[in-house]
Amino acid sequence: MAIDWQNTELQFALETVRQAAGLVRAIQQELVEPALTKDDRSPVTVADFAAQCVTGCMLERVFPHDVLVGEESADPLKESSNEAMLDLVVRYAGRVVTDATPTKVCDWIDRGAAQPAKRFWTIDPIDGTKGFLRGEQYVVALALIRDGRPQIGVLGCPNLAADGKPDYGGGGSLMAAVRGHGAWVLALEDAAVTPKQLHVSEIADPTEARVLRSVESGHTNVGLLDHILAQMGNDAEPVQMDSQAKYGALAAGSGDLLFRLLSPSKPDYREKIWDQAAGSLLVEEAGGRISDIEGRPLDFGAGRTLANNRGVLASNGKLHDAALEAVAAVGA
Ligand code: AMP
Ligand code: MG
Repeated sequence: MAIDWQNTELQFALETVRQAAGLVRAIQQELVEPALTKDDRSPVTVADFAAQCVTGCMLERVFPHDVLVGEESADPLKESSNEAMLDLVVRYAGRVVTDATPTKVCDWIDRGAAQPAKRFWTIDPIDGTKGFLRGEQYVVALALIRDGRPQIGVLGCPNLAADGKPDYGGGGSLMAAVRGHGAWVLALEDAAVTPKQLHVSEIADPTEARVLRSVESGHTNVGLLDHILAQMGNDAEPVQMDSQAKYGALAAGSGDLLFRLLSPSKPDYREKIWDQAAGSLLVEEAGGRISDIEGRPLDFGAGRTLANNRGVLASNGKLHDAALEAVAAVGA
C-alpha cells in the first residue's frame, strides 16, 4: 500500500524532527558553548537540551497522552552553576515553541524520563554529539515504537547531502521510514520537495562491502572489527561517520554493512533504544536487514536499552549471513 503522507503520526514525526534539526543547526552556527560532561562521561550541549525540549513540547500539544523516552534529563540544567545554559536553552527553544519558560523547558525535557510503554516515542535529540561538536555528522532521531517494534522512524541529518549521500553541503536530509511503507528521503529545509524512495545497495560479495564505521573508537571494538573484516576478506574503502547517519547512508545505498561491537572498556554496555530505533527501521524499509551480532531481532520492548541483544549488525540484506558467519568464526 502507498505511504500516506497525511498520517497524523508521520506528520508529527516529520514536523518535530524538521523543527528540532533546524534549531540544532542554528545553534551550531551561532553559538560556541562548552559542552557539559554527563555521569557517563559523554558530552551534552545547549542543542541537545533544546531539541529534546522541542520534542517534549510538541508531543504534549499533539499527543498529550503519549509516552516519551528521551536521552537527556533536565537535572544538570537545574543546578545553579548552569543557570546561563538554561537561559540559552529557553531562548533557543522559544524560537520554535511558544511560552517557553525555565520551568516549562525543564518539564518538557523531563517528559523523556518516562519508562517505555506498549506504545511510546523515543528521541535522541542529537545522536553523535561528538560529531556535532566537530562540525561533522550528527542526527536528530525520533521513532514511534509499538509492541517492541519501531513503526515510524525519522532522522534529521543537517550535514548529509540532500539525497542522503554521505557528502557535506546543501540543506541536509530528512529520512523517514514507516513499517510496511518503505524508507524515504526528503529535503530537511524544503517541505515542498517530493520524497524519493530509498533502496539499499546490491553488493553481495563480502570482499567488496563498504563498511560504515564509527569515528569514535571508544564506541566499538576496533581490533575485533578489523579481525571480522579480515575473516571476510574485506578490503574495500570504509565509510566513516558519526551517528545514525550511518544507517541513513546504508538505506541510501552509500554503504553496505555496519557492525556495532561492544567496546572492551565497557563490556556491560547495552545499546540505547534511541540510538537504534529510527535508523533500524530505515534500514529494514530500504530492503536491508538488522539484527544483533548473533542474528537475533532487535527487541525494543526491554526498557531503555536493548537489554536482550548483543551488539548490532545492519546490512543490505545480501551480506548479512556472511557477516554473521564471520562474527561467529572469530568468536566475537
Ligand atoms: P557512533 O556515532 O557510531 O560513534 O555512536 C554514537 C553512539 O554511541 C552514541 O549515541 C552513544 O550513545 C553510543 N555509545 C557511547 N558509549 C558507547 C560504548 N561504550 N559502546 C557503544 N556505543 C556507545
Ligand atoms: Mg545518541
